[in-house]
Amino acid sequence: HLDRIQAVDPRINAFLHVDTEGALDAARRVDADLDAGKAPVSPLAGVPLALKDVLTTKGIPTTCGSKMLEGWRPPYDATVTARLHAAGVIVLGKTNMDEFAMGSSTENSAYGVTRNPWDTDRIPGGSGGGSSASLAAFEAPLAIGTDTGGSIRQPGSVTGTVGVKPTYGGVSRHGLVAFSSSLDQAGPCARTVLDAALLHEVIAGHDPLDSTSIDAPVPPVVEAARQGASGDLRGVRVGVVREFSGDGYQPGVLRSFEAAVKQLTALGAEVVEVSCPHFDYALGAYYLIAPSECSSNLARFDAMRFGLRVGGDDSRLGAEEVMTLTRETGFGPEVKRRIMLGTYALSSGYYDAYYGQAQKVRTLISRDFASAFERVDVLVSPTTPTTAFRIGERADDPMAMYLADLCTIPSNLAGNAAMSVPSGLSDEDGLPVGLQIMAPAMADDRMYRVAAAYE
Ligand code: GLN
Repeated sequence: HLDRIQAVDPRINAFLHVDTEGALDAARRVDADLDAGKAPVSPLAGVPLALKDVLTTKGIPTTCGSKMLEGWRPPYDATVTARLHAAGVIVLGKTNMDEFAMGSSTENSAYGVTRNPWDTDRIPGGSGGGSSASLAAFEAPLAIGTDTGGSIRQPGSVTGTVGVKPTYGGVSRHGLVAFSSSLDQAGPCARTVLDAALLHEVIAGHDPLDSTSIDAPVPPVVEAARQGASGDLRGVRVGVVREFSGDGYQPGVLRSFEAAVKQLTALGAEVVEVSCPHFDYALGAYYLIAPSECSSNLARFDAMRFGLRVGGDDSRLGAEEVMTLTRETGFGPEVKRRIMLGTYALSSGYYDAYYGQAQKVRTLISRDFASAFERVDVLVSPTTPTTAFRIGERADDPMAMYLADLCTIPSNLAGNAAMSVPSGLSDEDGLPVGLQIMAPAMADDRMYRVAAAYE
């Protein structure tokens, strides 16, 4: 995999940092254990992985795709990182991403765009474009992403790979640099459903270092993936979300989705149409809640504690001026836009009308899910309305960019589980399409079963 990275990554730009020595050392340790006759520490011992650069890695650069953290080497591992090491997984390096995970195309990275291996003039999705592109380019068989509004599932969809957003609280956020704390969730990316399930079980589970971590057994996702592989979905009730079609959806994507629904029926699933009327407001609510939380979370980049400091050596400048200069230099345009939106939405006099209203919509969306899941076991939709768009096509149009997450955002707002599984190629442009499968909180195993049967 290191050779492969060297050969293709100059073109793909999936990696921001490759830890050749660390990876080889870790691999040698796994080999030494095996040679000594010890049982592997996990089913993934010795398997290489690409880690999104938003998770801290002790002593290894962690930039979040931002100039703000250039050169920062965290003093500790994220819980996800520590669990990977404990399972003998070989961390190859850190992957490119939209700055602080804000974006849907990886074009907002301060370190250049990642290219989609299917067509290098197109985006690999975002914000975790580096992780998904590394899988599609065969640079790594496993990757970790984070999903606040779709950043695991949408890149999975447009690169023809599997991407899973576990139930909120299912995977620890300790050491995940915060964008929107009530939405952020780390999860597995892989080329097959079973691989994703094996990785899921390595990283999931309660962590006392994250106060929102769920203290309950990890859903049996590996068993579910194995069960699903038999291809029998008799007794499974699947709901098609009526609101996710129509204007803005490419006909090729909708045809692929129809074919997927037919296939689920052929596998024995009972398919019904379900309406979730408030999903139409999810995007609007998300783009108030996520920027609000981000404006608060990103206040920590104050030029004092870590990362970039501009003007710090100039004795004529006071702390506030150094802070202003640093934030002006260190943050890119999308991050600044979000901080301004969030600060506005939270300011006195506007709070109730914007942030408060968005929180009410969030509750209505959770209720839509709850009543849908009284009738069905899982919900399905296209993962994203279009296939991979061209690099530059939406770069100057934030509203068009935000539409990429139309179908993924409701699951973040409600905190339930959702994943994208490859659904063939669009008959319109020959590019990968993803099928989204959504399940209730802590019923992640249900979606793995359906995904494995469908795959
Ligand atoms: N594209 C969405 C955004 O820009 C989602 C990002 C994410 O999931 N990290 O906020």
